[in-house]
Amino acid sequence: MEEAKALFQKLKIYSLLDLALVVPTSYNDTTLSQTLEVGKVCTVEAKVIESSVYNGKLRVTFQLTRFGRRLSSTFFRTTPYHYKLFEPGSSHVIQGRIDEYRGYLQMPQPRSVNKVGTVTPKYKTVLKESEIRTLIEAYITEKNLFDEGLDSKEVAALLRIHFPNSLDDIYEEGAFKAEFVQVLKFVEAYNHLKKLRGKRIDFRAMEALNGSIDAFVTHLPFTLTAEQQQVIAQIRSDLGNAKRAARRMVVGDVGSGKTMVILAAAMTALPHRSILMAPTSLLALQLYEEAQKHLPKTVKIALVMQGHDTGDYREADFIIGTHALLYKEDLPKAPLVMVDEQHRFGTKQRQMLEALMDTDEDVRPHYIQFSATPIPRTQAMMESELIDVSLITTTPFEREVATKVIGRPDFPALLEHIQDEIAQKHQVLIVYPLVEESTEIPYQSLEESRGFWEERFENVYVTHGKDKGKEEVLLSFRQHGNILLATTVVEVGISLPRLTLIVIVGAERLGLATLHQLRGRVGRNGLQSWCYLFSNKPQNERLQKFCETTNGFDIAKLDLKFRDSGDIIDGTIQSGQKFKWLDMAEDEKVVAHAKNRLEAVKLEK
Ligand code: ADP
Ligand code: MG
Repeated sequence: MEEAKALFQKLKIYSLLDLALVVPTSYNDTTLSQTLEVGKVCTVEAKVIESSVYNGKLRVTFQLTRFGRRLSSTFFRTTPYHYKLFEPGSSHVIQGRIDEYRGYLQMPQPRSVNKVGTVTPKYKTVLKESEIRTLIEAYITEKNLFDEGLDSKEVAALLRIHFPNSLDDIYEEGAFKAEFVQVLKFVEAYNHLKKLRGKRIDFRAMEALNGSIDAFVTHLPFTLTAEQQQVIAQIRSDLGNAKRAARRMVVGDVGSGKTMVILAAAMTALPHRSILMAPTSLLALQLYEEAQKHLPKTVKIALVMQGHDTGDYREADFIIGTHALLYKEDLPKAPLVMVDEQHRFGTKQRQMLEALMDTDEDVRPHYIQFSATPIPRTQAMMESELIDVSLITTTPFEREVATKVIGRPDFPALLEHIQDEIAQKHQVLIVYPLVEESTEIPYQSLEESRGFWEERFENVYVTHGKDKGKEEVLLSFRQHGNILLATTVVEVGISLPRLTLIVIVGAERLGLATLHQLRGRVGRNGLQSWCYLFSNKPQNERLQKFCETTNGFDIAKLDLKFRDSGDIIDGTIQSGQKFKWLDMAEDEKVVAHAKNRLEAVKLEK
């Protein structure tokens, strides 16, 4: 047992199903061949007719007893043992690739088969072949697999994969048959979910929150979309429960109306307090303004930012702020804590936030995070083992952003278009891959291009990630700018209502998620808008596909499909877990099935 433990560690294996999923990469089949196929590995009975040593090589001519043909073999590395083994008159079963040379059959360096009719799995792992086989034989048993909650079909499939009787049962054209792949997908999803399931720790809530949202909803200038209503209902059901503090993540595309959900949650918390943290002061300010606009006047709202506060947060019902909140020592406790654009916070800030939520007793605030990074439904289903997930997949109004891949020859037309937009008091954003010149990237940098734009246009603004004053630049640009030159920093969720045209230079270098975030900057006010993906390689399929859809959830799927395309450098693919069989873009049903099974298994116990 101790030995096995060490081997499991070497293999980085943590569950029985992890081991079951170490499937053979190939099999050695010693079943006698029914036919002789040139170019294929065959296993045949052969009798030695003559053998001779020549230049240190052993040449043997065999008679293939079943086929009535001759075949010759050369053994390159030979020992006296070989000479003895292949004495004329002796019988063998040999295995190797059959070649044909001028009508003569050959099998260079065949293996001598001891046991005919066996199929031996070959595993490629860090362990020795014998070690991994011992583990598989000891642990991958019918009983153990049933105990994991697999059904008889799955158990049978795994046993056949590891202990096959015949290769024809499991393989088709050198790969697992579809039904086996299906089982492997399922086991992969099920195993992953099973590991996650143990990890969620729940606390009691500080309060059950049941405030009415009617005063808020009835005064909105629009009707909430069905999805907004659904998510609000989910959150209200979470918050009404004192036994379990909510942990929920609301994922919705840019512009899907998450702010309304935040406000409805704050209403639900009344008469208790809630806290909302945003990643930038601009965003915090916007949220504050929205809250003031849409919440009843009786709700006391405070804004906390580095350097200055608005309203007294000690007295407020709803405290909105940046991470400056984390440094307020007298910040009152609140039974509801929310984080907007959580994907923009660093690890350190998230840890501090945990501290903010810590209470002296055994209770926690309800905690709701909002994210604008759409994830595939499969991933949402997986993550919901740790945290409840709500998806908002539609936007209140269809956003028109005509998206096009362009190259160098299109530049003059682009310049004209930019002039047109500016003439209509619209704004333009141009995103560069780098601030400074670099030999590694075949595109101009922000600094290199700056002069070009500044010469031709008025009110050109420039900012980038390391720019300390970027928030002021953005604010001033919002008021007075024509063109903003930036790096991907503009991902930050600031709204620029007059922005109608974005150019992304070197677009093929960015992940689709990033492109999607960038494109989300334009057309926020229903104005017809354009997104130009400038690339030296405009024939890029990934970019072309991106042009066809504006739905973030479809794009998350596309991102998965193209994850191996290799030209993505910004590392925005966050789906983390890589599966060997499971396709996160396609296998929604498999994941749902695995979740149901886990539920059923849990009930049985
Ligand atoms: P997100 O935070 O998800 O990116 P916002 O909450 O900022 O999106 O909403 C984007 C815009 O849509 C805002 O101007 C908001 O007022 C508007 N909006 C939100 N919900 C609706 C709705 N149900 N109908 C019409 N407009 C809406
Ligand atoms: Mg938002």
